[in-house]
Amino acid sequence: MKLVFFGAPGAGKGTIAKIVYDKNKIVQISTGDLFRNAIKNQTELGKKVSAILERGDLVPDELTIEIVKERIKEKDCNKGYILDGFPRTMIQAESWEKIDPIDRAVYFDISDEVVKRRLGGRRICPKCGAIFNIYTNKPKNEGICDNDGESLIIRKDDQEEAIENRLFIYHEQTKPLISYYKKLDKLVTIDSSVDADTSYQQIIKALKL
Ligand code: AMP
Ligand code: ZN
Repeated sequence: MKLVFFGAPGAGKGTIAKIVYDKNKIVQISTGDLFRNAIKNQTELGKKVSAILERGDLVPDELTIEIVKERIKEKDCNKGYILDGFPRTMIQAESWEKIDPIDRAVYFDISDEVVKRRLGGRRICPKCGAIFNIYTNKPKNEGICDNDGESLIIRKDDQEEAIENRLFIYHEQTKPLISYYKKLDKLVTIDSSVDADTSYQQIIKALKL
């Protein structure tokens, strides 16, 4: 099954994609993770996109499409995949339908207010990647990772200004995908202001996984 997960930043796409992978073995392809890894490993790609990610802007369509195209050639994608955070623009969506048409696009519906709280409260461990939230998923000791005692940090693109920018771009560029996939009869909408498990249950039901 080929799925797209889209919605506002902080809607929980990545979290749910990981649960679907654990339970249903459909691989998650997160363009955000691919870019962040490239930056961490200081590859050519990483150098190109690092400033873009810090601002919360979008990486150019052509480059993004190319990266996903390469990624799905890997063996773990032969039974399908979840595209998490891609497509994010009409150009990406229309291009992808020509490259490898998807089965369903899951729209994670959430208000800007909840997004701001989730992203603004997010703290991550630079060592193991664990994600906490100062409102909803506090670490046992403030500012410290439960797993390894490392000091937690705020992602640059989770700073207030970058969040505003990402939300703006989301409304301008990504929201039109709702009617696009609706017209193709591929749209599934879930309420993602609820906890991860409830979101997952909605997806299971809608996709009959
Ligand atoms: P995410 O973790 O999905 O929020 O992605 C982090 C950042 O990576 C975004 O703010 C963009 O700068 C970039 N990015 C991720 N996916 C895409 C995409 N489909 N198109 C363009 N830029 C993207
Ligand atoms: Zn850690």
